[in-house]
Amino acid sequence: MKQFQAESKRLLDLMIHSIYTHREIFLRELISNASDAMDKLYYRSLQDNETGLNRDDFKITIDLDKDARTLTISDNGCGMTQDDLENNLGVIAQSGSLAFKQGQEQNDEIDIIGQFGVGFYSAFMVSDCVTVQSRAYGSDEAYEWQSHGAEGYTIEPCQRDTHGTTITLHIKESTDDDNYDEFLNDYRIQDIVKKYSDYIRYPIQMDLEKSRPKEGSHDKPEFETYIEKTTLNSMVPIWRKNRSELTQDDYHQFYQEKFHDYQAPVRVIHSNTEGSSTYHALLFVPAKAPADYYTREYEPGLQLYASGVLIMEKCKDLLPDYFSFMRGLVDSQDLSLNISREMLQHDRQLKLIGSRLEKKVKSELSSMLEHDREAYEKFFGEFGLQLKFGLYSDFGMHKETLQDLVLFYSSTEKKLVTFSEYVGRMKEGQEYIYYACGDSVERIESLPQTELLRDKGMEMLYLTDDVDEFALRVMMEYQEKKFKNISSGDLGLETDEEKKHAQQSAEENKGLLDALTEALDGKVKEVRLSQRLKSHPVCLSSGSDLSIEMEKVLNAMPNNEKVQAQRVLEINENHPVFTALQKLHPDHPDQLKTYASLLYTQALLIEGVAIEDPVAFSNQICELMTRE
Ligand code: ADP
Repeated sequence: MKQFQAESKRLLDLMIHSIYTHREIFLRELISNASDAMDKLYYRSLQDNETGLNRDDFKITIDLDKDARTLTISDNGCGMTQDDLENNLGVIAQSGSLAFKQGQEQNDEIDIIGQFGVGFYSAFMVSDCVTVQSRAYGSDEAYEWQSHGAEGYTIEPCQRDTHGTTITLHIKESTDDDNYDEFLNDYRIQDIVKKYSDYIRYPIQMDLEKSRPKEGSHDKPEFETYIEKTTLNSMVPIWRKNRSELTQDDYHQFYQEKFHDYQAPVRVIHSNTEGSSTYHALLFVPAKAPADYYTREYEPGLQLYASGVLIMEKCKDLLPDYFSFMRGLVDSQDLSLNISREMLQHDRQLKLIGSRLEKKVKSELSSMLEHDREAYEKFFGEFGLQLKFGLYSDFGMHKETLQDLVLFYSSTEKKLVTFSEYVGRMKEGQEYIYYACGDSVERIESLPQTELLRDKGMEMLYLTDDVDEFALRVMMEYQEKKFKNISSGDLGLETDEEKKHAQQSAEENKGLLDALTEALDGKVKEVRLSQRLKSHPVCLSSGSDLSIEMEKVLNAMPNNEKVQAQRVLEINENHPVFTALQKLHPDHPDQLKTYASLLYTQALLIEGVAIEDPVAFSNQICELMTRE
């Protein structure tokens, strides 16, 4: 006997001792595996005609034997080789393992099984022995895999006439608490198939007992029973059905099973289009971003079907990168079955479908933003970063599509707002959309540079993601209002009187300011009196197009050439520190130099920029503290 892999064994244990009430889903899992296996073979038969197989040749058969307590599911799909049996059934499949990891706690058992499905092993929820006989297509050997549970499994050669797989479940005995006999009842099985597997595109057949009037008994009909092979499912895939026939639950169930998500999607887009291109699309906005979403590992793409046959698992060319979080599928009869990946990229039909889907996604998101703000904000928390990357990418080419879908934290509203909301309440004469950058809302809130704007009751957008300022820069403006970093040169806020006063002060203190600039020895472009500080003594502003925040982001990227924003040290002339500086000039140049360096370092710290020489800074402070 062979041992299961450790993780498989744990999952198996969970299944065997499951207290889950909807054990019936085991049938859905096994049928879906059978259907996949037939898809694989059918797809192959379309590509090379040598198989001689037609779509109609494929079917799934269910047999019940009440006496032997067995339920058997057979398919004539691609089958499994000895190695496949070993690798696929002895080792937990990836999708399953993901679910398992997410729900290691006992309480989550129900969630994993119910919403996620656990594949083949779910058979052990209802059976005490599972036998799989399989013969791979093109092979003349067949093998039997058998397991009574967690102890292990055996694989041996067996006899099987055709390719495909037959799974026999020995159904557990019923107990006082648990009824397993229902899985030997043909009407119950029929119900379960209808409920979970109706859309499977191959017939699922079972012998059903029916009754009819006996021949020659017209006056007073007598009935006789007979057995008829019956197809249990309607075989119409859910995406080909009418929206009106489907409930929210149908969609959610389909999504969770098909895309292995344990959470229901937040939005469903179902579109059936005829005309210049005919296609069915079923798209979902997931509730949560997958753990690898913002990494290179994430593989975006929609499933692509040509006339109901899956031709590609992840087709990337249907949706732009910024909507790569969407899951779902597209089924079109305008696509050729043998189309290659390279050809697809240039396919006109596909482009047409893609551009329509993009519009659909956009309008669905806009409608969510408008009608269900709370849901949208949650969505934005998961995928907003991707939308902002989209704004920045391709030199801002996607501005029209995306600018009304992004949100930023507002200093006055204390919540996320859109550009349009911001512009809608701009003050009379306000020229710019102001923004401030930092690692977090709290951090920005305490930036000295925000004082003036706060004082004037101006709304600021707080940009906390690295990409934010870059995105705004390429956008340049929104509804003809330019964006303005609150740390940049002129904020356009002073009155004429204030300007005049500033000019005057600057002239009066020119000698001191020049001396300070010189003392900083090229570290700053200029030391100047600040118009934006109210209570803080100093801050940095940027004298160039590149902001200090952008400098930080660019310099943090690997392999990037180091850049430096032009720095301006601003000093608050109403702060006692400034009076102290005035006293030092021009008679104490050495001390002035130390003070200049201290103030500059403080400004760097406030800005969150690493300081060049922390030890020197510390020494300077100590010296100050011990000065007589
Ligand atoms: P999943 O279906 O999520 O991959 P399962 O545990 O249900 O996980 O199945 C594991 C693997 O076993 C499948 O991916 C497939 O390769 C193989 N398999 C299961 N059932 C069949 C079948 N009826 N015919 C062919 N292969 C099968």
